[in-house]
Amino acid sequence: MLRRVVGAEVEIAQLEHSPLLTRSYASWLLGRSGVVVAEIRDRSVAVVQLAEDGFEFPAGARRRSLAWADLNVRRVPTESPSPLRPYRAGTSGSGSSLVQHAVEADDDVALCAELVRPVIVGDWHVPFVATLACACSECRRLAATAEPSGSLEVESP
Ligand SMILES: [Zn+2]
Repeated sequence: MLRRVVGAEVEIAQLEHSPLLTRSYASWLLGRSGVVVAEIRDRSVAVVQLAEDGFEFPAGARRRSLAWADLNVRRVPTESPSPLRPYRAGTSGSGSSLVQHAVEADDDVALCAELVRPVIVGDWHVPFVATLACACSECRRLAATAEPSGSLEVESP
């Protein structure tokens, strides 16, 4: 059995153990493949960036949280991961419940798989600051541990 690691290519075999929100897309997700970009919930859940093949993504999100137990690992990355990159800030909620998340460049889905609004001042994209009180704890953890693979970046458009 292949190792469960960030950067692995996976196929969605079932959705029995995955979060409810993910399971609501079962008919759409089963059998699809993607790449694991992060791990959450004590590494039991993988954030999967789905392979783009002409489908419309529900809610516009290409990333879904899926339990590792529901995934078949097809291939693991062979190249060493690229150095950590700074993340941009994205927000969800509003007013006093505003939460700041970490987002990769030109993405509207945070590391924790939350759909977010980018924080832009003029043409400057505000960076994610993990020390802010309103920073998402999941994003804070993932930004510190996520190791995006250089080889996978090349494959995505
Ligand atoms: Zn977050």
